[in-house]
Amino acid sequence: MKRNKSFAVIGLGRFGTSVARTLSRLGYEVLAIDTKEERVQQVADEVTHTYIADTTDENSLKALGIRNFDVVVVAIGEDIQANVLTTLLLKDLGVKYIVAKARNELHGKMLEKIGADRVVYPERDMGQRVAHNLVSTNVLDYIELSPDLSLIETSAPRCLVGKTLAEARLREKYDANVVAIKRGDQIIVPPNPGEKIQAGDVLIVVGRNGGLQKLEELE
Ligand code: ADP
Repeated sequence: MKRNKSFAVIGLGRFGTSVARTLSRLGYEVLAIDTKEERVQQVADEVTHTYIADTTDENSLKALGIRNFDVVVVAIGEDIQANVLTTLLLKDLGVKYIVAKARNELHGKMLEKIGADRVVYPERDMGQRVAHNLVSTNVLDYIELSPDLSLIETSAPRCLVGKTLAEARLREKYDANVVAIKRGDQIIVPPNPGEKIQAGDVLIVVGRNGGLQKLEELE
């Protein structure tokens, strides 16, 4: 099934390739672009169209009809200058929605100023996830919602097993809200205060970072 939103992905490093492949598997039209032929070849069988081009060249972008894509992802990594220049040209050409990958906060700020509609920090986000998982083996996933608020997916600590959510008093103690419980194939959302936490449960918790950190330390 082809879905009707179209995407162009520029820069087929690890990140860009993964984005292009995933969108294609989800059924979307994907144009994959890179300066290097071998990078383009690697995804050629999996995406709708490919193109070898340097996207810092305005004429190449025009020739591609890049404006006609609903979303353009700038996944050029190492070469910050090419990443910024490409974003700038896309904006000038009137691309509707630009997602750009940033290497650091300063780079991200620059992309926002230029007019990227969404800036992503894959290395930073993955680094945070891995760090939280290293600090607490219970933590399976971590997403920063704002500088102060986060969402974690954590295996239920042993000390909470057998308690109901009301008895666990996570809100009072840690300012943490259990928004869902994963139990095998089942997802309990929203869970009742009377729901008893079982061994093997995965808790999805939203809260302030300080409180969540204490929750992560429970065993
Ligand atoms: P990652 O860290 O995600 O692996 P890389 O920086 O290694 O990202 O890869 C970025 C890709 O972007 C490379 O394949 C590179 O050839 C491509 N690229 C770099 N500059 C341009 C450009 N001006 N136009 C198109 N593609 C480019």
